[in-house]
Amino acid sequence: MKELAGQSVIVTGASRGIGREIALEVARRGANVAFNYLRSEPQAQELKAEIEALGVKALAYKVDVGDLGAVRGMVDAARAALGRIDAVVNNAGLTRDKLVMMMSEEDWAEVLRTNLTGAFNVARAAIFPMMKAKSGVILNVSSVSGLVGMAGQVNYSAAKAGLIGLTKALAKEVGRHGVRVNALALGFIETDMTAKLPAQNREAALKMIPLGRFGAVGDVAPAAAFLLSGAAAYITGAVIQIDGGLAM
Ligand code: NAP
Repeated sequence: MKELAGQSVIVTGASRGIGREIALEVARRGANVAFNYLRSEPQAQELKAEIEALGVKALAYKVDVGDLGAVRGMVDAARAALGRIDAVVNNAGLTRDKLVMMMSEEDWAEVLRTNLTGAFNVARAAIFPMMKAKSGVILNVSSVSGLVGMAGQVNYSAAKAGLIGLTKALAKEVGRHGVRVNALALGFIETDMTAKLPAQNREAALKMIPLGRFGAVGDVAPAAAFLLSGAAAYITGAVIQIDGGLAM
């Protein structure tokens, strides 16, 4: 029996990168998957087909996580189609890296809106039925930037630190209702997001990582699936670092 068989999981921002691999990993473990994306339509359709080929249901929604009304519509539609929502992975995110003296109001607002408000919106839309069912899991994808701060990422570090605060506060709020809330604090993972790093920043980052390499999406997805599973039944409010030792 697959450990997530019969469950329904929402993964945000799954058209590319880490979210894509988490969606595939939970599908491999038997879960039906609803996911959203914003711009990458062909990749989203490709993922939907890949998930369906694993023998589970896949639903793809072109929805901006920053839009609460649209997020509510997606969560309600997914629940109606799949019968229930057992878990949510708040993965959608973006960077607009700049030194603070060059950072525009838009750079600040867009990063906070997607990385932090987006997670609030999905949690807000999904939490009540989970509390009523006395069961559910929310997993927020944060970053070591939110733990230690990174120069050039004042907006992103603030959003990801906020996400850790959200995780702990919500875990305290809903634990007695059977809902677990955890976060991943990721280091450098090879995706489109880190492909934008200038070569010299990449070299400098590599020197700070005890394991001597950037992570792969496959280094993240199994830990995410574990935190959604019954094997993690007593883990809540935790921030699990997956960073090759970068931020210790
Ligand atoms: P990525 O390759 O750039 O993918 C980002 C995903 O988020 C895409 O599927 C994108 O969809 C989606 N997205 C962006 N804005 C959205 C919005 N407003 N509404 C819905 N979906 C949206 O990034 P990644 O590296 O996989 O990062 C995934 C998560 O891990 C992010 O939260 C990121 O902050 C976090 N993280 C990554 C690293 C790393 O080193 N890669 C490190 C720490 C934390 P479209 O393409 O359709 O727009």
